[in-house]
This record gives sequence, structure tokens and C-alpha cells, in this order.
Amino acid sequence: GRGVAMVTAVAARLAAHRQLLEETLAPFQLNHEQLGAVQAQMREAMVRGLRGEASSLRMLPTYVRATPDGSERGDFLALDLGGTNFRVLVVHVTEGGVQITNQVYSIPEGVAQGSGQQLFDHIVDCIVDFQQRQGLSGQSLPLGFTFSFPCKQLGLDQGILLNWTKGFNASDCEGQDVVCLLREAIRRRQAVELNVVAIVNDTVGTMMSCGYEDPRCEMGLIVGTGTNACYMEELRNVTSVAGDSGHMCINMEWGAFGDDGSLGLLSTCFDAIVDQASINPGKQRFEKMISGMYLGEIVRHILLHLTSCGVLFRGRQAQCLQTKDIFKTKFLSEIESDSLALRQVRAILEDLGLLLTSDDALMVREVCQAVSRRAARLCGAGVAAVVEKIRENRGLEVLTVSVGVDGTLYKMHPHFSSLVATTVRELAPRCAVSFLQSEDGSGKGAALVTAVACRLAQTAQV
Ligand code: BGC
Ligand code: MG
Repeated sequence: GRGVAMVTAVAARLAAHRQLLEETLAPFQLNHEQLGAVQAQMREAMVRGLRGEASSLRMLPTYVRATPDGSERGDFLALDLGGTNFRVLVVHVTEGGVQITNQVYSIPEGVAQGSGQQLFDHIVDCIVDFQQRQGLSGQSLPLGFTFSFPCKQLGLDQGILLNWTKGFNASDCEGQDVVCLLREAIRRRQAVELNVVAIVNDTVGTMMSCGYEDPRCEMGLIVGTGTNACYMEELRNVTSVAGDSGHMCINMEWGAFGDDGSLGLLSTCFDAIVDQASINPGKQRFEKMISGMYLGEIVRHILLHLTSCGVLFRGRQAQCLQTKDIFKTKFLSEIESDSLALRQVRAILEDLGLLLTSDDALMVREVCQAVSRRAARLCGAGVAAVVEKIRENRGLEVLTVSVGVDGTLYKMHPHFSSLVATTVRELAPRCAVSFLQSEDGSGKGAALVTAVACRLAQTAQV
């Protein structure tokens, strides 16, 4: 009778919704072949970048030639710019270990995207404040500056900003030496001159900080607000730096992978929308599929689409879903947590102002899973390309290597790290890769790069 007909209609509608959901998420499910192709493309782009040929990977020499050997000692100042906050640190490297005191300063969006002068004046104000609080005002400790943006380095203490990434877009900085920008701000503020020894990418700092404990650590990886990797390359393969023996750490700037269009087939219409709405359209295409600043936005656009198809929220557009960046990557981590019951998932979404059924909550969770899973697998394909290159560089049958990792998405998400590891095992079976989570890689690492440089300079003087 009527009852049966209604049940059938409901079942049919649910089946149709499910099919639409699956069709929408299908492009996010990358199979082994697709990931293998990403790995191969990454590998080719690495080689071209190292040779100075056209490539979306810049493969920037860092002038870091060795990981720490444990004999480093001293007191250092460190700066960390490029994540969510700006930090100033004093780092004591002693026989007993590394002690860090740090202070977090916020960088208002208006400053990050205002004038370069304003940004660097703000940085100097923070440093002066820190020195006063810590009683360091008269001293000129050697300083390591973790500056987590692509820089062309001509030496350890020189870094020309190639372009801003993530949420930064301060004017008149691109093409300038970051150390000079800092010195000019010090002069404007009539502050005491700083002894800048090294400019350090956060990936390099992370590799160095893990390398202090594990000499096998020859790669650094960040999956936080942005994403990037560095690794120890044979100097003979680095065309732009003289010398044929020894190693040099290369900052890959893999966030820009695919900016030449090579990821075109993998990129979905949602990636295109997120890219177009960003402050750097067309740039950092790999980063925009992987890192914390963008995953929530991808999810939000998929939810908007599913709502407009009538699959979610009974087809009613929730006002809050229209707001850019409302869907924080933190929510992905929470929603995907295994221990969370569906009703808790609902509660998180209701806090955002969404009115939803259990079916909706289930589907939102599936969307989050598809997006973060793709991110982790792409990241794994990148790591596989790097460790395989190190293995072949050394002519080894089997390579045992460690990767130092930092970044909130990697550390906080319930499944991200294990998915990266599984993917690497799948794509680089001849490499035994351990992942080490760094503790304050940016701070400790910058100090260690500075310490190694000071140690080498002292040896050179003798
Ligand atoms: C920057 C890299 C940095 C990474 C992680 C990217 O946007 O270009 O230099 O290492 O973010 O912070
Ligand atoms: Mg950082």
C-alpha cells in the first residue's frame, strides 16, 4: 500500500544521494598507479630543478652541508616566522641537551599582508621586547632566523625572498634579502644590531633538530599551515653550487609542485575554486591539496556543492557555510577521530551553526576523510620520490633513513601520519623509512644550524 511506496521512495532518494556523494568524492581517491605517476613526476622535476632547468620544483641550495654531530655548544637567539605566529627564542645548547625559552607574538593579518616595512618593524619590536624580558638586551648572541618561505640563498646568512606563500603578502619584500630587511628595520627602530648567522627554512630546522639525536635523519618534512620538504643531496648533483664532494641540504619548495600544470589531471573542480579564491592563484598547487591552510576550504566547497544537489542539509544552504575559512583544519582532525561518536560529530558541526541529521553528519565525515586521505597519500608519494632518490644517489640496494617531521596537521590528525607511512612503504619498498616528530624543529633547528656554522667558522680560523 501507501506505506510501502513511501519507504521505497525514501530508500530510492537515499540511494541517489549516496551515489552523488560517491561520484563527488571519487576524484579524491587516488589509486596506486596515480600515486606512482605523482612520484615519477616529482622525481623528474627534482632532477630538472637541481640542474637549473625549467621545473616547478626550485630545489634551492641551503648552504647547510652537514647535520649536527652532537658537539655543538653555545647560546643562540632564534626567530621563527612563517607559521601561524611569530616567535622569538633563546636556545642553550649544552652537553646535557637543548633548553629553549620562547615567546609567541601574533602577526595580525593586516601586518602580514600590509607593507614590508610595517612587517619588519613589528618583528624588530618583538625581538626588542623579548630581549628586555629575558635580560638579553646588551648581548649580541649569534642568531638563526627560521624564515619559512622560498628563499634563494647565496650563503648561509643571505636569503632573497622569491615569493610569499600561505597567508603572507607584505609589499616590497619579494626580491629582497631578508637579512637586509631586518637590518633596515633595526636602523629605523634604533635597536641594537643583531648578529645574523643563518637563514633557515623550517624544513631544514626540523631535519637538523631530529638529526641531533639521529644521524640517519637526512630529510625534513613540514605539514602544517603549508607543506614542504628538504633532504641531503650529493653536491655533485647541485649544478648551481661549486664543488663535487660532500652533501648539501636542498630546500625543495615542493608546495609549488604542479604549478607548471603537471598536476592538472588530479586537480578537481574544488581545488580550482580554492586556488582561485586564495591570495596567490595558480601558485602552490601541491600545497593547496595537502596543507592545513587549505583542506578545510576544500571540504567547505564540497559541502556547498552537495548541499546545492540536495544531498546534504535537506538542500538548505546554511549561511555559515558561505564564510571563507570557517571550516578549520582542526575540525577535520576532530571529526575524523575514531573515538568520536556520530553525535559528537554532529555537535561540532552544530557549533558551526549547521543544522543537520545523523545522515548528514556521516556524509560530512566521509568528505573530510576523502580530503585528508588524498592529502596524506600525495604527501607520501612526495616522500617516496625523495627517499628513492637518496637511495639511488648512494647506489644502495636498501636505504635506511629517518625523516624529521613537524606541523600541526601531521601531528594532530588521527590518521595522517600513518597514511603517509603506508604510502611510502607502498611506493618505495626498498627504503626503510622512520618518521621522527620534531620538538620545536624551527627553534632548536635554527640554533643548531647556527651552532654548526659557528663551530665550522672556529675550526677554519685555527
Ligand atoms: C613555504 C615553505 C615552507 C612551508 C612550510 C611553504 O608555503 O613556501 O618555505 O617550508 O610552507 O612552512
Ligand atoms: Mg613552523
